[in-house]
Amino acid sequence: MASFTLHGIPVSRGIAIGRAHLLASAALDVKHYLISEEQVEAEVQRLQNAIAAVHQELQAVWRELPPDAPAELGAFIDVHALILSDPMISEMPLDIIRSRHYNAEWALLTQIDELSAQFDEIEDTYLRERKNDIQQVGERVLKVLTGTASTLAGLASSPDSTAHMIVVAHDISPADMLQFRDRAFAGFITDLGGQNSHTAIVARSLDIPAAVGMYNASALIAQDDWVIIDGDAGVVIVDPPPVVLEQYRERQARMLRERKKLSRLKKTPAVTKDGTEITLLANIELPQDCAAALEAGATGIGLFRSEFLFMGRAGYANRLPTEDEQFESYKMAVTAMKGRPVTIRTLDIGADKPMDNAEETALNPALGLRAIRYCLAEPQMFMAQLRAILRASAFGPIKLLIPMLAHAFEIDQTLNMIEQAKAQLREANRKFDPQIQIGAMIEIPAAALALPLFAQRLDFLSIGTNDLIQYTLAVDRVDHEVAHLYNPLHPAVLFLLSTTIAAGAKAGIPVSVCGEMAGDTKLTRLLLGMGLREFSMHPAQLLSVKQEILNSDLTVLVPKTRKILRLMEANAINEAMEQLRSA
Ligand code: PEP
Ligand code: MG
Repeated sequence: MASFTLHGIPVSRGIAIGRAHLLASAALDVKHYLISEEQVEAEVQRLQNAIAAVHQELQAVWRELPPDAPAELGAFIDVHALILSDPMISEMPLDIIRSRHYNAEWALLTQIDELSAQFDEIEDTYLRERKNDIQQVGERVLKVLTGTASTLAGLASSPDSTAHMIVVAHDISPADMLQFRDRAFAGFITDLGGQNSHTAIVARSLDIPAAVGMYNASALIAQDDWVIIDGDAGVVIVDPPPVVLEQYRERQARMLRERKKLSRLKKTPAVTKDGTEITLLANIELPQDCAAALEAGATGIGLFRSEFLFMGRAGYANRLPTEDEQFESYKMAVTAMKGRPVTIRTLDIGADKPMDNAEETALNPALGLRAIRYCLAEPQMFMAQLRAILRASAFGPIKLLIPMLAHAFEIDQTLNMIEQAKAQLREANRKFDPQIQIGAMIEIPAAALALPLFAQRLDFLSIGTNDLIQYTLAVDRVDHEVAHLYNPLHPAVLFLLSTTIAAGAKAGIPVSVCGEMAGDTKLTRLLLGMGLREFSMHPAQLLSVKQEILNSDLTVLVPKTRKILRLMEANAINEAMEQLRSA
């Protein structure tokens, strides 16, 4: 067979080489037939039994989640449980059996196709991607109905054969991804999915090369074909000629050697050639992630996205985490970090991170009642979180970080509520750190442009470049159709970043960057040249960034960065960035 190349969306870095293992879509095997009136109730019962079996299956996956499972997985399983309980899945197909006399599989598939079509109409990319969750749940039920064993179960029994296996599927559910994580599989390719699909998020947190959004890869690639995934470029090469295979093997070996070498830097202090100390912190989603942060040599947590404790609880858990539950999670994180600072960001729910049980009514959720706006509108819930964080501060150094602030009155209202929470704890004789530091995310352009409002009121600032870019350029960060406009090197973004860092230094208030820019080695020197001294990123990125820092000389970088900040044209900026990287 001739070699061919497919292009999709890169979601998880690295190179994977192996033989294709195709995961069949259960939907393809479904039988369609009409049943008689007498068979209707038996058919209804058959479908109800299958739904109940999948409920149990999900509960079992939930119970067996290893303590170090990626933060998002529990939430994903809950989303699937919730979908399964929804009358759209649990009742409507039963009506179809009764009214149209379809067999159970056909009735379920009809309903899923109907729902999928409705989801296709939705403009919001994130919501549109949830169609995949519905299809994955439907496939689970179909598998039980058709008696097909889980498509992954067979793989689980033969570890050796999967050593160089590339999974190729129309789609993979996050729960199924979990079953892959203990296996030595090399990478995965899916037809569906975007940068922000659940499966992509899990792949990134597992650090497995992956490419998604490959359209009909699962139809074009045959079982056991040799496949190369270039996870950095989103390119898949099928049946590569020997010379290409050899090149990629060399590249892969080189990357592995480099990563191994990097691990030696774990204890090396992050100091530039001219002797400037840099602080490298980790971003985490759940307290369990502290282990990876320590393993990477992080000197603290720069961003604990506390919303992951709140998301996906509408299924089995069925409620928001209580003050005590939150307290235990925050305490677990600060204890795990053994005296290193832990920056806990208060609930940043909304936009692309909806709470499952929150009805999304905003016309434009990214500009709606998200993050601190939502918290100030829900004072009871916010006070419970503040008390939980404060209580945990008795067990180690905690900093409080507030997302999405823009107005002075929002800062004042938040500070007031923190004081109230402290007063309540004093009254209840609960211990906390009375000197707890309070900081703001700078992620709305208005905040960056009115920085004195923040510097006068707060102890530290953390720049959220993910949102700062989105709001500065008016580019939805999860919409692949405008992804080409999402440019961290736009002069307006560079202006806001550099002026915020400089203003922080002038006011004597620490400034960090905790958005994705902090973990991108292509940007490390630029940020150093702007004066950034504190970087917070995913643990997997930390040692590469450290290496870049060790090779940097600020006396060279600062003047070169100043020149870049005066440029306006993209070509000139890109050229100057190349020079900066080789400086
Ligand atoms: C950011 O906006 O850069 C950030 C760190 O927060 P999040 O990605 O959670 O919105
Ligand atoms: Mg943000």
